[in-house]
Amino acid sequence: MFTNSDIAELTAFRRELHLWPELSGAEEETARRVVAFMTAGAPDKVLTGLGGTGVALVYDSGRAGPSVMIRAELDALPIEETGTPDYRSRIAGRGHLCGHDGHMAMLCAVGRVLARQRPARGRVILLFQPAEETGQGAAAVLADPAFAAIAPDIALSLHNMPGLPLGHVGLAEGPANCASRGLDIRLCGRTAHASMPDTGLSPMRALARLMPALTALGGGGPLDTGFRMATVTHAALGEATFGVAPGAARLMVTLRCLEDAGMDALCAEAEALVRDVAEAEGLELSMRYDDVFLACRNAPEAVALLRRACTAAGVPVSEVPPMLGSEDFGRFGHDRPAAMFLLGAGEDRPQLHNPDYDFPDDLIPVGAAVFLQAIREVLG
Ligand SMILES: [Zn+2]
Ligand SMILES: [Zn+2]
Repeated sequence: MFTNSDIAELTAFRRELHLWPELSGAEEETARRVVAFMTAGAPDKVLTGLGGTGVALVYDSGRAGPSVMIRAELDALPIEETGTPDYRSRIAGRGHLCGHDGHMAMLCAVGRVLARQRPARGRVILLFQPAEETGQGAAAVLADPAFAAIAPDIALSLHNMPGLPLGHVGLAEGPANCASRGLDIRLCGRTAHASMPDTGLSPMRALARLMPALTALGGGGPLDTGFRMATVTHAALGEATFGVAPGAARLMVTLRCLEDAGMDALCAEAEALVRDVAEAEGLELSMRYDDVFLACRNAPEAVALLRRACTAAGVPVSEVPPMLGSEDFGRFGHDRPAAMFLLGAGEDRPQLHNPDYDFPDDLIPVGAAVFLQAIREVLG
């Protein structure tokens, strides 16, 4: 399926992407590199600027039939890479530490094979999606009229996963990733001279009450449908000075549920709690949400397709529990069957988003082979 020179070029390309990570929504150069690299495996159509910086490569049989979409992500993370590969990030404070560089290389591998042999019917869309890490990219792509013109009948994706044996697939029907929302809380009182705190209004007590109270909204095991979690991710009070009693505080909490249905209730409870505390302390309050991820559910027919593809590709599959982390691929599953599988990155590898994470290049042909088998199953 892949020649040795394919593997060498795809590995080199993965490392080139690794050198130049770009943050969510600003992946212009990464998108440009993908398009430039794929002139060697030319698609029938290239769409750029999808949902911002997204790219879709379309391989068309020219005959009627279903459309199969495979998705990868363009973005990297605002984390300084501490690993020391030759191709370590050249950009301070940014790194491809979620393995999206590897996902992109896999889609390029799929494109190379499709360029040599178009599907027998229908078409394949290779989507390089922006801004996955902030939960904004899939929604932006779906809202783009240019995407409506190539809307697929089935959508597939994968995520590399440290902790699973290298090259093993983890897959299950139903909930695959939790829904989550970032609640950004600002409390405003009045500053005072540090020697006369009573003349001001400090949010200190409110902040101190809210951190454990919000955390306590979580409960249930990760496999329960009622599972929920609230994680304080940031808290700030006043300024870094000794002369001023604080007048403002900011608290950020990530709320998480196994399914979308539970999320509205969890948000309502969190908001009511914050409102009560702010009111009791006489503080002004504002709340907003960011990084809104819907739950990701794997459709049974898409899971069955991936199982057949793994068997055909000789890749071992095991059942895995849902991931607590969020993933915006779920949005593509609202209007069509969709499924995402996990591809083991090895049991001893650092975890995703760790500063020394590095995608294992050996997975490039494995993930690509599973996708190609799935495409052949549907389109011949
Ligand atoms: Zn990530
Ligand atoms: Zn990721």
